[in-house]
Amino acid sequence: MSLDHTHDPDLISWVESARDHTDFPIQNLPFGVMDFGKGPRPVVAIGDEVIDLQLATERGLLGDRGELACAASAPNLNALANLGAEVRLELRRRLSALLTGADPSLHDDSEARAVVLRKQDEGHMCAPFAIGDYTDFYCSIHHATNVGSMFRPDNPLMPNYRHLPVGYHGRASTVILEGGDVCRPSGQTLPVEASDPIYGPSRLLDYEFELGFYVGEGTALGSRIEMPAAPKHIFGLSIVNDWSARDVQKWEYQPLGPFNAKNFCTQVSPWVVTMEALEPFRVAGPTRGPEDPENLPYLQPNRPDQSLAIVCETSLLTAAMRERGEDPFVISTGDFRHMHWSIEQMLVHHTSTGCAMRSGDLIASGTVSGPEPESRGCLLERTWRGSEPVQLPDGTERKFLQDGDEVIMRAWCELPGAVRIGLGRCAGTITPAV
Ligand code: CA
Repeated sequence: MSLDHTHDPDLISWVESARDHTDFPIQNLPFGVMDFGKGPRPVVAIGDEVIDLQLATERGLLGDRGELACAASAPNLNALANLGAEVRLELRRRLSALLTGADPSLHDDSEARAVVLRKQDEGHMCAPFAIGDYTDFYCSIHHATNVGSMFRPDNPLMPNYRHLPVGYHGRASTVILEGGDVCRPSGQTLPVEASDPIYGPSRLLDYEFELGFYVGEGTALGSRIEMPAAPKHIFGLSIVNDWSARDVQKWEYQPLGPFNAKNFCTQVSPWVVTMEALEPFRVAGPTRGPEDPENLPYLQPNRPDQSLAIVCETSLLTAAMRERGEDPFVISTGDFRHMHWSIEQMLVHHTSTGCAMRSGDLIASGTVSGPEPESRGCLLERTWRGSEPVQLPDGTERKFLQDGDEVIMRAWCELPGAVRIGLGRCAGTITPAV
């Protein structure tokens, strides 16, 4: 899509909380699922409030599409996503008009406002999608090079890396919403200098800051998504924390890649920021150097600004800091624009064999790391495998996560000429192994 009046920086909503410093101004309008006591239902955020899509549809505020009414009464966003990009764009324009007052039918009807518009803190967030399949890519060349150089100093980047987006099939059953406890996993590891493996709680527990996109309109087995059509099949982005047990990973990963090191928990943020909302934050990707081969035609970008400028910030709050009432400490700040492969390239490559995509499938990017040490999106890199611990303000340090640590991830978009929008947060607290 291209920019339209819904992106106008001068647009202002009559919802007051959408005008202050908020992740959800009128230019954002992210989707989520909330329960206000009558079961989960799709909503769209505006400031501190939400529009209940089912009730808005029943009142005829969102047009007369029967298919939309059906999708708006579902307990997740899968059906809505499968309606495709054009329906989503039309819905965005309708909501923008209603919430700016360009269409006064909601603003001028106090009874409708009381029913359709709810305070976020009166309900609780639910999982946005029923995720059928979860794939995790490895698209930061900085992350791949850093991790590779720790495990294979003389051969850090595999020869395929610059030719295709490397990924693996993850485990959808262990993807959960942010905010809860994350139990330290146990697994099989080979301690340093030991000859035999042991089973027990992971001692090298880590997070990975990633962004993930949900598939919009699905595809049939045997059909490919080509580059020009790729954006239409992407619903929107959320924050993903791919919790990782590094000691388990190190012992198990060859030759088939991650398995139990990753399948104990993956967390997602509750709000899904649409591709339409992200349009003002399209930027050129990293410059390709002489070492970069020309990609095969199916993987070549069809627009120069296929990357997205999204700030990715990770903070840590230890149990001791929490007890003293201290603020979380920022341990890294990265930017999604540094990713070697775009989300469109991930999707095109994923379906290049004819692999079917279903609405609500989650495709994560891999750890978002940039060129500077402060931009590295996991502790393995940030502390260089524990050799350069993160120094915390109270004099303590972290090599890997300890029980009671809360990892808080935030992401937002901020560029000149556009209104800042946020993706919200994705937080989880480590609890002891059981
Ligand atoms: Ca990962």
